[in-house]
Amino acid sequence: MRDTAIQTPDRAKVGFISLGCPKALVDSERILTQLRIEGYDITPQYEDAGVVIVNTCGFIDAAKEESLETIGEAIRENGRVLVTGCMGRGDDADAIRARHPKVLGISGPAAYEEVLSTVREVLPQHHQPNPHLDLIPAQGVKLTPRHYAYLKISEGCNHRCRFCIIPSLRGDLVSRPIGSVMSEAEGLVRAGVRELLVVSQDTSAYGIDLKYQTDFWHGRPLKSNLESLASALSELGVWVRFHYVYPYPHVDKLIPMMAAGKLLPYIDMPLQHGARSVLERMKRPAAAEKTLDRIAKWRDICPDLSIRSTFIVGYPGETEEEFESLLTFIDRAQLDRVGCFQYSPVKGAAANELPNPIPEATKAARWDRFMALQQSISAAKLQRKIGSTQTILIDQVTEDGAIGRTFADAPEIDGVVHLPDITDFSPGDLVEAEISAADDYDLWV
Ligand code: SF4
Repeated sequence: MRDTAIQTPDRAKVGFISLGCPKALVDSERILTQLRIEGYDITPQYEDAGVVIVNTCGFIDAAKEESLETIGEAIRENGRVLVTGCMGRGDDADAIRARHPKVLGISGPAAYEEVLSTVREVLPQHHQPNPHLDLIPAQGVKLTPRHYAYLKISEGCNHRCRFCIIPSLRGDLVSRPIGSVMSEAEGLVRAGVRELLVVSQDTSAYGIDLKYQTDFWHGRPLKSNLESLASALSELGVWVRFHYVYPYPHVDKLIPMMAAGKLLPYIDMPLQHGARSVLERMKRPAAAEKTLDRIAKWRDICPDLSIRSTFIVGYPGETEEEFESLLTFIDRAQLDRVGCFQYSPVKGAAANELPNPIPEATKAARWDRFMALQQSISAAKLQRKIGSTQTILIDQVTEDGAIGRTFADAPEIDGVVHLPDITDFSPGDLVEAEISAADDYDLWV
């Protein structure tokens, strides 16, 4: 469990375990902030907690199993457990009740008020919060290091990709008005954040549900759309990184801002496959876009652009020919950072009904071929950085040296830069250094 708050006596104490993706992490931060506002203390010790909240992940079966095991551990160690998050709905909630009948309550993702009201019920708080003594940082409780933060701009998704159950867990797209996003971003920067990571299920769709309505930030009218958001965030003077962007035409408008140094030249764009027929069977957004042409155009405008993506091999019905067109795609796309998953059925996903499942051995063999090709592409790209001078954001300093990242690397998912024997920096510092070595994933100065 993570230590997230100062301990003071006489308060009801809550334990908190946060699992899953950055979007779930933002939900955890909201719940923790509200608990602190109501005077609860957060404890990292099972034995001190009056109740333990587990924020679960239900994205794939392995994540569900980890969630179920974590709930089991919390019940063994503490006994009073509330469950929330992506597993808190439908069949998954039934599975939790069946395996852990002692849980005190279950709620779904982003169900902040439901979690809070159950905590109030099972662990009444007698400490009256005093606004002069119980200081909550203006930016709320953060689970990320002080120098970077996730900025969630919307919840839910209007797409219905066949392998994904997120829309059934989190509902349709609900965007936050741009004024509220900008006020949060500004508060984070004021509190010392040096990198904002924009997250959602579908960042390109930001504002569609609001019909791009005009909202206000410091009295200035701004449209709630991706371009205005990017432009306003670029005024804050910190690194701004966009995740979960699909290659729609309007994303083109961000590229000149990246080329001008206003936004990090980085796009996290989950493509999932390179064969249009597979993308159509997946019901992927932007399946019909000419993605390779778009990437080439973006690189003409912004040659430094770094693209991260994820792919699935072994989707039901994937033929050898389709798989080979995926290999051709990644060879031509020359992406910088790539994750690859072997398709595995997720309970409740429409893809489970598709014919021609791929044998496990074929999936594994295709994954190996995919990874071998992509590794050589990523490694060659890193080799080309040797001798260049890069701006590095320091993440961590130990007695052996510092670890940081360049614009091309998002925290947790991409590579790092090692700065051996350099100890006179602090996390959040930006330093310029020449790259002297590289391996398949990381760089050294
Ligand atoms: S875009 Fe597709 S994969 Fe992503 S959350 Fe929406 S339905 Fe799921």
